[in-house]
Parts: sequence; structure tokens; C-alpha cells
Amino acid sequence: MILYLHDTPYKVRNEVAANIDNIDTVELVESCLVNNKNLMLSADDGYKSVINLLPLLEKYNVRLLFFVTTGLIEKTVYPYEVEISNFLEKNSSCKYSGETLELEGAQEKDDFFKALHQRLKYLSLEQRDYLVHNFFSENGTNRNQYQKNVFMTWDDLLQIKQHPLVEIGSHCVSHIFLPSQTIADIYYELRESKERLEEKLECKVTKLSYPYGGNDLKVRLLARLAGYKEAYGTHNKKSKAMNQARIGIRALI
Ligand SMILES: [Zn+2]
Repeated sequence: MILYLHDTPYKVRNEVAANIDNIDTVELVESCLVNNKNLMLSADDGYKSVINLLPLLEKYNVRLLFFVTTGLIEKTVYPYEVEISNFLEKNSSCKYSGETLELEGAQEKDDFFKALHQRLKYLSLEQRDYLVHNFFSENGTNRNQYQKNVFMTWDDLLQIKQHPLVEIGSHCVSHIFLPSQTIADIYYELRESKERLEEKLECKVTKLSYPYGGNDLKVRLLARLAGYKEAYGTHNKKSKAMNQARIGIRALI
């Protein structure tokens, strides 16, 4: 069984109000490892905090597949989920499509984040950037100030790649939902991220995890064509080479 993780801090920061579903503490991961045999870990996106998992790999002799979004590492793609989460942490109201929304508690913020995220998820990179940019302009603020330094650098990746229990895979360039993109864009996302990782880290990259788990027949064929041997989804029940099942931590605890 393969567990999928994202941000893995030691503690959930008190001020976190949104995107809480993508935060799994080291303590939670360890309790899963204690209670479940034959687990393998995987972590998506490229969060710096994944370094915190290394002692667990050694202690429980488990492997980690680390799926990296190259645009987030190179800062060529806006980390829109981090920007919006961070904005919501710091503000208790926001303007959205001409309305002012009161977001007093963590639940309201989380609900708003999820609704906005759902709207942005299926868009192209250009459409997503345009809408997020508009959201910040409507709120009279610049998105850049809400970026935190949460993703690894190439140097960090070179270090973690040395670990015998870690394998680096791709999580595309721009973290877009592949099935709703053009064939040219899908192939670019798959091929470019693989080549970039191989060139910068000097290793073979044959594994992929689909952003948001999104894949269909066309995406899976293009992934094969781009040179991947295995690919991972999320929540999928039937497992096959190009859409292997993974499970979220909340399904296990
Ligand atoms: Zn992801």
C-alpha cells in the first residue's frame, strides 16, 4: 500500500486555516507506519518539510517516492495554493466576484479555500493565473507577498536524492489537471518535467504522479510516450501500471 503525503511538518502550525488536508505531521505518518505493515510513502509537490521523513525511512525501513513539480522548484509557476492559504491565514474577510465575504473562523476559511480550489483546479495554467491574479487585485494586494519558501531548491533535491530509500519522480511542471488540457500541453508537462529532473539531478526518472490524481486514457498513453514506466493516482480503486492506487493518511487513521 502506498501512502500519499504533501507537506510533512513536525507540528501543524497554529495559524494554518486553509488547505489543512495537505498537511500531515511526522507524528501522524509515524503512527501509520507503526500500525500498518508493508507501507510505502510517497510525497507530492516538492515540499521542503519532506526532509523530516528521512529518520522514519531508516527507522521503519520504508521507501519514499518523492514526486516533484519542477515549476514550483524553479519558481516559474505561481504556488497558488500556498498564496491563497497564506492570504486566508492573514485576513478575516475577502472580496470575491464583487462581494465581500466574512471569513471569521477556520471552518469558513477552509470552506472558501475548497470552493475556490475546486473552481481553479480544472483550468489551464493561463486561466488559473489570470483568476488568481484578479482575486489578489480585487483584494488590493499583491500575490507575491503571500508566497512562503516552502518548496525545495535543486540543492535540497540533490541532497535528498542521495538517500538510498528515496526515489525522485515527476509531478509535472505546472501542477495542472492533465485531462482537461490540450494534447500538446499534456505532453509538455510530462516530458519537460522528466527531462528537467534528469538533467538537474543526474538520475533516471521513470515514475510519475498525476497532479490531483487526474488521468484518463489519453493522459496515460502520453505518459508512456514521454517515457514513464509507472504512474500514480489518488483514491483510485483499481490499480494498473499507469494508474497505481494510493491512499491518503486520513483513510488510515
Ligand atoms: Zn500535487
